Amino acid sequence: MSFLKILKEYDDFDFSGYFANVTDEMVLNSINKKSLDKFDFLNLLSPRAKIHLEKIAQKAHEITVANFGYTINLYLPIYVSNYCSSDCLYCGFSKKNKIPRKKLSLEEVEIEAREIAKSGIKHILFLTGESRKITPLEYLCNVTKILKKHFSFVAIEVYPMSQKDYEVLFKAGVDGLTVYQEVYDKELYKSVHVSGEKSDYKYRLETPERGAKAGFRNLNIGALFGIGDIASEAFFSGLHASYLSKKYLGCELGLSLPRINEAEGGFQPNCILDDVSFVQIMCAYRLFLPRVEINISTREDADFRDNLLGICATKFSAGSKTEVGGYTVAKTKPQFEISDTRESDEVIKRIQELGYEPVYKNWENI
Ligand code: SF4
Repeated sequence: MSFLKILKEYDDFDFSGYFANVTDEMVLNSINKKSLDKFDFLNLLSPRAKIHLEKIAQKAHEITVANFGYTINLYLPIYVSNYCSSDCLYCGFSKKNKIPRKKLSLEEVEIEAREIAKSGIKHILFLTGESRKITPLEYLCNVTKILKKHFSFVAIEVYPMSQKDYEVLFKAGVDGLTVYQEVYDKELYKSVHVSGEKSDYKYRLETPERGAKAGFRNLNIGALFGIGDIASEAFFSGLHASYLSKKYLGCELGLSLPRINEAEGGFQPNCILDDVSFVQIMCAYRLFLPRVEINISTREDADFRDNLLGICATKFSAGSKTEVGGYTVAKTKPQFEISDTRESDEVIKRIQELGYEPVYKNWENI
């Protein structure tokens, strides 16, 4: 069954009604189970589960240590272009925003790559706005080949593509794909993705699968919190990750929990994901999906990120710049404001102080 069909089964599901009937006993049972089903996952996302958050966090920590040890995978993002042909209300790169636009030349990509590589981190995520015209497949292949000289793992966060185009990128050296659905609620999806390719809900939803079929070994997905109902968006993100991990066994799955940050355009979030609920969702992901990577970006502030490390986060960006050419030549505006402004060496030092081993490299394609 496709994931779209699975989602359809929840069209009339009454989340509030379900949550209203969750008891302490149901939450405690779900915490103690070895293998959780989707109702256990819902129980952990319920308001009732907040009372048991300490217990849930302890279990999440145990599972994380059992599966990942005391390690944290590091990566850095590189923004190579901010041109975009879509209008998404929450994003600084929206085509409607009158911001300076830039696409790095291949020479500039090389300069940025050399600068980033000084950190010693071997995992890079390269991002563009979503403009097929300004950053065509050939340009993305060339960027990949340059990055591959400096980094052992290259992931992309660019416009969704066909399986055939992903196969070309896979051959050029791309290892992983990040693509956030942003909002699983179809109607809300339509309301914030006003125009452009990104307004195609179904094509975006099926993107991770085209990436998996093309050969990418790592898929990172998630909802952007601040648009749709928080608990149901978290539920669908976890369900999506579970579906992908069962169908594409060779793929490592990652979940991110981005919260909307201030960006050009002045979009006001529909709801706020508070810190306690953030931790609850992160831990519910861990109990439901013991092997999934949990990625915490620099959207979150330094203290909060350090605390999440001791619970169940497994992947951190460090010293991120979200402007095009941000490490060497930036003259553009960031896609969103970052909160953890520490340089990568400071983040690494703190990870070590907290008793964790920072992982600079965990993959080499031979
Ligand atoms: S979210 Fe992506 S597609 Fe939408 S405006 Fe921003 S860069 Fe463009």
